[in-house]
Amino acid sequence: MRGTVLYGPRDIRFEERETPKIVQPTDAVLRLAATCVCGSDLWPYRGLQPIDGPTAMGHEYCGFVEEAGSAVKFVKPGQFVVGSFAASDNTCPNCQDGYQSSCVQREFMLRAQASLLRVPLADGTLVPTPGGPPPDDLVPSLLAASDVLGTGWFAADAANVKPGATVVVVGDGAVGLLGVLSARQMGAERIIAVSRHEARQKLAREFGATDIVTERGDAGVARIKELTKAIGADSVLECVGTQESMMQAVQSTRPGGFVSYVGVPHGVSLDGAQLFFSHVHLHGGPAPVRRYLPKLIDLILNGKMNPGKVFDLVLPLDQVAEGYRAMDERRAIKALLRPQAA
Ligand SMILES: [Zn+2]
Repeated sequence: MRGTVLYGPRDIRFEERETPKIVQPTDAVLRLAATCVCGSDLWPYRGLQPIDGPTAMGHEYCGFVEEAGSAVKFVKPGQFVVGSFAASDNTCPNCQDGYQSSCVQREFMLRAQASLLRVPLADGTLVPTPGGPPPDDLVPSLLAASDVLGTGWFAADAANVKPGATVVVVGDGAVGLLGVLSARQMGAERIIAVSRHEARQKLAREFGATDIVTERGDAGVARIKELTKAIGADSVLECVGTQESMMQAVQSTRPGGFVSYVGVPHGVSLDGAQLFFSHVHLHGGPAPVRRYLPKLIDLILNGKMNPGKVFDLVLPLDQVAEGYRAMDERRAIKALLRPQAA
């Protein structure tokens, strides 16, 4: 089997690898219908996050169960399943509290930019689509649920988005755009998207943004205050992970409002006094996507949401290197990869 391996900065290879097989009796092996490149894959790709030698890439996936281990009870060969980027047992106390991405048995997924994938803790991690395999045109949206939609949805939920709320989304990557879509689905009345890129602004509006702010930093905060009775927004979703975006999020939130943060932080630190006087709630982290998967799958299958629109580039899996290049150069928002038929 061939799969995607990062050797060093901007050196992505699609090469022969060991075929995944059942290792633990709780494992399943999937034949993937689709996978994709994540914004977080670009950190090591750009050399901004060190790797220990050649690293198999990919953590977003959906597809057919090829084989299930002897201890797997609920997931069956032939089912179409969606799983999270974090494998979880879905039974431990953290899972029962809805924080499956802090499962005591958590394993972060790797190696998903391939045609076959081993998934640990299959019963806890994977959610089959009800009513059998989905129509092929829904596969991109179901793939989005695996990470970017699940993360955008968590961002909106953690920021306490309620019907009628005024929401700000900082970040116009796939997660930010799907944060807009999630906030709209949850009934937000006003959604201010922070974006400088025309194609992304257009998609943000299509997903439900009512206002676009192009300024960043202090100028961005000032502009958002102008739009929100000079006090700030009820809910602010930070979907980037830089110092500037985090501070823009905190300062754009009204006293008593909520900030969520789902961008993996790179060099972010918070000033205690500034936080103290801001009066905001903070909640974020790696999204517990598994908590939301049944609901998100239902919304997608019933045509209530079309998050698959974030994939503006579709490539055969063996052209994965071009997917990384296009996202690195911001020619594409997100690249979907289709394994060739077996
Ligand atoms: Zn658990």
